[in-house]
Amino acid sequence: MAVSPLAPSPLTDRLLGSWLRCKRRAWLDRHGDPSERIWSAHRSLQLDGQRRSFSSLSPERPRHGLAACEAGAAAVVGVRLFGVGPAGLAVEAHPALLVRGAGQSRWGAFAYQPVLARQGYRLSREPRLSLTLWGRLLGEAQQAPVSHGLVLAGVGAGQQRESLALGSSLQHQLDESLQRLAGDLERSSPPPLVNDRKKCVLCSWRSLCDREAAAEGHLSEVSGIGGKRRELLQQLGLQRLGDLAAADPQQLADALAVHGEQLREVASELITQAQVQQGGQPLRRDRRPALPELAQAPGVLIYDIESDPDARDDFLHGFLRLGRDGAGGWLDPNEAPYHPLLALQEQGEARLWQRLSQLLAKWPDWPVLHYGETESLALLRLAQRQGASELELEALRRRLIDLHQRIRRCWWLPVSSYGLKAVASWRGFRWSQKGVDGARALLWWRQWRLGFGGAHGRGSRHSLRRIFAYNRDDCLATWAAARWLLDEDQGPDLAP
Ligand code: SF4
Repeated sequence: MAVSPLAPSPLTDRLLGSWLRCKRRAWLDRHGDPSERIWSAHRSLQLDGQRRSFSSLSPERPRHGLAACEAGAAAVVGVRLFGVGPAGLAVEAHPALLVRGAGQSRWGAFAYQPVLARQGYRLSREPRLSLTLWGRLLGEAQQAPVSHGLVLAGVGAGQQRESLALGSSLQHQLDESLQRLAGDLERSSPPPLVNDRKKCVLCSWRSLCDREAAAEGHLSEVSGIGGKRRELLQQLGLQRLGDLAAADPQQLADALAVHGEQLREVASELITQAQVQQGGQPLRRDRRPALPELAQAPGVLIYDIESDPDARDDFLHGFLRLGRDGAGGWLDPNEAPYHPLLALQEQGEARLWQRLSQLLAKWPDWPVLHYGETESLALLRLAQRQGASELELEALRRRLIDLHQRIRRCWWLPVSSYGLKAVASWRGFRWSQKGVDGARALLWWRQWRLGFGGAHGRGSRHSLRRIFAYNRDDCLATWAAARWLLDEDQGPDLAP
């Protein structure tokens, strides 16, 4: 990947945001091949959250552009601001929203302030510096300094509003970051992959970077290695997956123990995981059967939840009902009935619990199989809130089987993550809708909620069908992983 020798374009707030998350990302945003980018629902979700947050601030529609500022509109979007940053760097920003307040600007007896909708539970460095840049360029444009930015969180009556002082410390951090960003963009090749690759989940360059990580045997490819552990291993001279696979367990345990006794224990686990990934073959770690509950079960309910984490809303509880074929085997999962239970907040939790308990009571002896702890936590908490007795809760706990936990207990797999997507894909499972993930399903959910009964009713019904298809696929993927475990449980090398 080479950088074209064109005159430098301005540094934008988008580039700064990318750089604060991952230096490589900013470089790719500027110099990368756009065809390598993959669409991510995350940005659309962010914009949707921002729009709802802004409409809670003021029901009036914002007006557009600098002309609206000159006219003294109460709220303005679509303003492009330009300026000169440290060391003469050209900078450009597009504030999400400006609101009119008290003051004296070149437009009259008022002045504007930038507004930002916070994502998540705390205001990280990235939005702080964006707001600082917006405030600085806005101050120049309106010829009146901007001392504070407004931060919104949430929607409706519970919306939080915080005034953030854009003081000297933030100004200094902004200057320093802009200069370092400019330096990184001048590199002739992209900066290395980010240390903590959890950040990559939301990045549009992840497909390109995943390929590179796999090709170079990047340590982050080893399941169980995050940014911190990678740094420690690199300090010990282990740079690549192959180095770790070849390491001596005792030596590594002693070296890691200096940084904490618990690291001594994980040393041999990391080495085994690296060896399994390198060899490409699964390895049994526990000779007990992984899913003994399913051996005699008359059927299994495969359970998967779709959630809106920001709203703490589990909006869909999906069940695939898979029975036996009468000869000791299982029926075709692709023909299994699917039961989607939508959790509409306006219908109340009691109604949801009633429908869930009715469904579970229809097949009382069938275990409930799910992947990860989300489903069991959500169902048990819901049951508790709805007054289930200790006896009922215990019965529910006994029925719930966390497949992820069973896999981790019984097997080493040649996968870089033990998440459902990676494990089921390793088993050859393919989702019927390409490029769909939980964020995309959440976006469809919000579209369906908006269109429900309104002008976009038909389009939104299509969104709902796609959510169901995605959720059903997750149930089928869970079964693909479970089926492999069951087949292996029939193998000869198990404990009696
Ligand atoms: S995928 Fe990860 S490493 Fe690659 S640019 Fe994005 S955040 Fe950085």
